[in-house]
Amino acid sequence: QLDKQSALKLVQRLENDAQNTKNSADGIGPEPESLFESAPADLRSWNNVVEAAPNDIVDVGEHGEIEPSLEYEFTRRRIQTNIGEIWNFFSSELGKVRKAVAAGHANTDLEETINQVLLQGAEHKRSLLSDMEHLRRSDGYEAWRHREAKELSDLVQRRLHHLQNPRDCQNARKLVCKLNKGCGYGCQLHHVVYCFIVAYATERTLILKSRGWRYHKGGWEEVFQPVSNSCHDAGTANTYNWPGKPNTQVLVLPIIDSLMPRPPYLPLAVPEDLAPRLKRLHGDPIVWWVGQFLKYLLRPQTTTRDFLTAGMRNLGWERPIVGVHVRRTDKVGTEAACHSVEEYMTHVEDYYRTLEVNGTSVVRRIFLASDDALVIEEARRKYPEYQIIGDPEVARMASVSTRYTDTALNGIILDIHLLSMSDHLVCTFSSQVCRVAYEIMQTMYPDAAHRFKSLDDIYYYGGQNAHNRRVVIAHKPRSHEDLQLRVGDLVSVAGNHWDGNSKGKNTRTNQGGLFPSFKVEEKVDTAKLPLYPGV
Ligand code: GDP
Repeated sequence: QLDKQSALKLVQRLENDAQNTKNSADGIGPEPESLFESAPADLRSWNNVVEAAPNDIVDVGEHGEIEPSLEYEFTRRRIQTNIGEIWNFFSSELGKVRKAVAAGHANTDLEETINQVLLQGAEHKRSLLSDMEHLRRSDGYEAWRHREAKELSDLVQRRLHHLQNPRDCQNARKLVCKLNKGCGYGCQLHHVVYCFIVAYATERTLILKSRGWRYHKGGWEEVFQPVSNSCHDAGTANTYNWPGKPNTQVLVLPIIDSLMPRPPYLPLAVPEDLAPRLKRLHGDPIVWWVGQFLKYLLRPQTTTRDFLTAGMRNLGWERPIVGVHVRRTDKVGTEAACHSVEEYMTHVEDYYRTLEVNGTSVVRRIFLASDDALVIEEARRKYPEYQIIGDPEVARMASVSTRYTDTALNGIILDIHLLSMSDHLVCTFSSQVCRVAYEIMQTMYPDAAHRFKSLDDIYYYGGQNAHNRRVVIAHKPRSHEDLQLRVGDLVSVAGNHWDGNSKGKNTRTNQGGLFPSFKVEEKVDTAKLPLYPGV
């Protein structure tokens, strides 16, 4: 029996669900909020929540407990049954293949059978993923997720604002960071974020020295808003290089690669006071944490904002859209392998097929960014059924010889911005361009940790402390390549082979090797950091 208020909520809820179902059938999330709308009063950010919060509230039963919706329970049971189904399917089909091989019938028929198994298996997987997405939208917790994400972000943004605008600038403790690391834009952004994390941890106002910046000689402040409204000058008094002395007023920070001693709060650590909330909200808290610094840092100047708005309009940017980043030129053969356009597009195709698993059809659209203009031409030629948004001229300017120019800077800012606003990213995490886009993406959804496919590395932060995962299921080695794992062991992970196995080192046995990725879970590192009680 429903009282009037609960009945009204239920009606509203069904209406929202109907809209959400329509949107997901259309392959799009709820309408994006205005792109440049402000978050907390003067902390304007170009990025805002892409996925607007629903206004539904969980149903509260007559005894005050939270009741699941019919749709939620239905979808949950459907997934449970279909996990069994996907296994029935694979065990039966592979059993047939085994028999055929044992009977000596291995011929071209077998190849076709395996092909069919893979095709049908992929459909099973897409259906499960689509149901999981539906489950999230209909479980009644979406409003909480959006509210919690906003509150956490607002809190961190207020703390950064407070840190950066001390009452008495002259006597404030400061941290000097020089924007002169000899590397690309993504790498330099990561350098500034690292400085900012140290500033936050040591309660020092960050002073960013950017005159003569290789991407824009006039400095950071001509492109993005200054990191402080009121405190720009380091002064000359009492200045020391890291680690300085307890009473050092102005501390100069080296690049992370030569930082000695290394403090415990470097990535992948997140602040201990926020960790319980972050672990509940987000699939990869460190990416969220880094994203918050970028959100503050990348508040655009008016000219940058106008340029971005015009860029989006000229390109005809529209959702749903998959952001694809193809890193080539100087990276290939030195720090990363070359991946073909087809490899990226296989994952794009899989994403759209998942959206379409219930029979709806979606416009296939990608935003393609690269430092090699030929990639955009190649993709347009090979994938005429796709609407491919991208500017070969921007890619041309991104080549090594013209990369450090104002025009190229505009190009990389626009590319990263649009990649970060996509529904899904397909790229190589060996590139800092894509990792930055992924970090910014986290500021637009309550949890966008799963919205990517990396063709090579797992997420990492250059210069990070050890990345550990905890063993939750014991493992007996299947071959000499495998690790032996006990529940509770910590494995320092080196990478994922994306074939079900990851590579790492068991910190208990010091042995290195492979292990099934599902047998471990992320161990979120935390560090005691200032609590900013006045904020
Ligand atoms: P990484 O070398 O790929 O890890 O990333 P960095 O950002 O540190 O350096 C690569 C630089 O190449 C970028 O900062 C850009 O200047 C340029 N670049 C690479 N990929 C792209 C792209 O897709 N678009 C644009 N506009 N520039 C790119």
